[in-house]
Amino acid sequence: MSSSNPSGQNGRPDQVNLFGQDHFQAAVSNSQASLGGAEQPFFKIVATDPHSQARTGQVRTSHGLIRTPMFMPVGTRASVKAVAPDDLAALGAEIVLANTYHLMLRPGPEIIKALGGLHRFMGWPGPIITDSGGYQVFSLSAMRKLTDDGVGFKSTYDGSSIFLTPEKAVELQEGFGVDILMCLDECTTYPASREETEKSLNLTLNWAKRSKKAWQGPGALFGIAQGGFYPDLRRQAAEAIKELDFPGQAVGGLALGEPLAERLTAIESAVSALDSQKPVYLMGLGTPLDLMEGIKRGADLFDCVMPTRNARNGQLFTRGGKINVLNARYKAETTPPDDQCGCYTCQNFSLAYLRHLHQNREPLYLRLATIHNLRYYLDLMREARNALINGTFMCYYNQFMSQQP
Ligand SMILES: [Zn+2]
Repeated sequence: MSSSNPSGQNGRPDQVNLFGQDHFQAAVSNSQASLGGAEQPFFKIVATDPHSQARTGQVRTSHGLIRTPMFMPVGTRASVKAVAPDDLAALGAEIVLANTYHLMLRPGPEIIKALGGLHRFMGWPGPIITDSGGYQVFSLSAMRKLTDDGVGFKSTYDGSSIFLTPEKAVELQEGFGVDILMCLDECTTYPASREETEKSLNLTLNWAKRSKKAWQGPGALFGIAQGGFYPDLRRQAAEAIKELDFPGQAVGGLALGEPLAERLTAIESAVSALDSQKPVYLMGLGTPLDLMEGIKRGADLFDCVMPTRNARNGQLFTRGGKINVLNARYKAETTPPDDQCGCYTCQNFSLAYLRHLHQNREPLYLRLATIHNLRYYLDLMREARNALINGTFMCYYNQFMSQQP
């Protein structure tokens, strides 16, 4: 069972204890306590940085509060690979992301519904966000057919034909019972011509309107601004999403292999045209540097497979840069991956031991490495939030940048 420390002192995440004897009951009590009255807004900005667009705030859901900036660990198939929900709570995760594409194909929405919804199914009582399924349709499925109405594709599991529409994507996510759901969108590749980008952007906006119409709640629907790497198209898309007045807003179509400068321009163009009073989710980003640059530009929520996937591949993020545990220099290394890190792994294990586990394909390696990398990402968010509250965000940002290779 994870312990809680409401003060958030000495590097401990101050996540409430979600995992009591009946952790679902505990989660409900938490959310009731944190909601503090029906008049509370979905998103509240707590502090802003006078020298940048960065801010810290709170997103309220019926499964608890999410303090922003926040990183959302990716639980593709309703599981964050190698770690259990109590690990996630102990690490300071306040929301997890699951993938609609995979869950609609296996186990299928009927099973999840019959098992009491996604929270109960996966044993995570805190907030859950799902994507629309569109990204995987476009990136994984062969033989897809895009029309104005939606996208037809063959399941990567059994080859069956499926047609996903904006309405269907909303229905699926509402059926899962998630706290935040996303509109179906189309993402262009990089590079893409202006004409292709414009066409895709218009399709995404049309789908956003249809998604909003189909949306019933209580989960909060986020609209997605696309627009590729044409700043005026990014602005145009963001203005249209703002106009549609969703509870939350997202910027999609980033980290497609574009240079950092283009990515940052796209983020700036989109975020500056979105509603500043609503949460902004930068989809699929990214490296620790991407996150820090995103926070500086006004983004609040992030997700990426990088900390979990890279951990499994042997790459650990540390305050001194990335390291590979398989490096021969760690053969007899007595120190942990990051001696400033408070995670269970760094408190208890040496690099030599982690290297030994990885070399021998011991399953424990996966858990220990994932715990460390997620803690690194979640610590970055916690430190950024604290810096914003203390009015020292740019100091924190500059210090972080000075440590980048
Ligand atoms: Zn650690």
